Amino acid sequence: MTKPAEPRNAGEKTPKAPAHPVRIGVLAIQGDYDAHAQALREAGAEPVLIRKPEQLNEIDGLIIPGGESTTFLKFLERDGFLASLQTFVRSKPTFGTCAGCILLAKEVTHPPQASLGVLNATVERNAYGRQIDSAIQIGPTQLPGGPLEMVYIRAPRIAETGDGVHVLAERDGFPVLVEQGHIMAATFHPELSSDRRVHKRFVDLVLRSR
Ligand code: GLN
Repeated sequence: MTKPAEPRNAGEKTPKAPAHPVRIGVLAIQGDYDAHAQALREAGAEPVLIRKPEQLNEIDGLIIPGGESTTFLKFLERDGFLASLQTFVRSKPTFGTCAGCILLAKEVTHPPQASLGVLNATVERNAYGRQIDSAIQIGPTQLPGGPLEMVYIRAPRIAETGDGVHVLAERDGFPVLVEQGHIMAATFHPELSSDRRVHKRFVDLVLRSR
């Protein structure tokens, strides 16, 4: 017996499947990129470890992790990586944490150093002195879901912000988590806490801009 034809809703469109799962790069030349890759997986994205400038073409967004911003700069100044990254961060979603936040800032102090210059902010390196430079704090945030754990390791301080910077959390009156259009930055290490709200926020930002 022949099977009756499947009923068809002629007027209905099949929902468009996304071209590929959201693919987010983690700059993996230095610092704690593995923890970010895991956090991205838990937040529903596919992480890609980025070690060469040409890989930037394969991703929808990028995380620049914590580490040592001077070391990052040294590596990036080879092979034209810095120039490719500069082009990328101007238009594609990028999230900088700790040293990554320093690299994104328009101005870096204590001491001054080169940066990608896309976040309208002045960021002061190692701003909390020796005694309290590393700490775990639980603080209020504008992210839905109540207070957030924030792990600080030789943290910088966002000393000043300019146009378009939206503050999502503060410590002692200074911003610690900010958003500016397609850019996000944190002076703490969200990848070291189990709360995935910060990475989810970035994944959503990437999804909106694809
Ligand atoms: N102190 C580092 C710097 O100045 C940042 C520290 C971090 O990323 N945990 O680059």
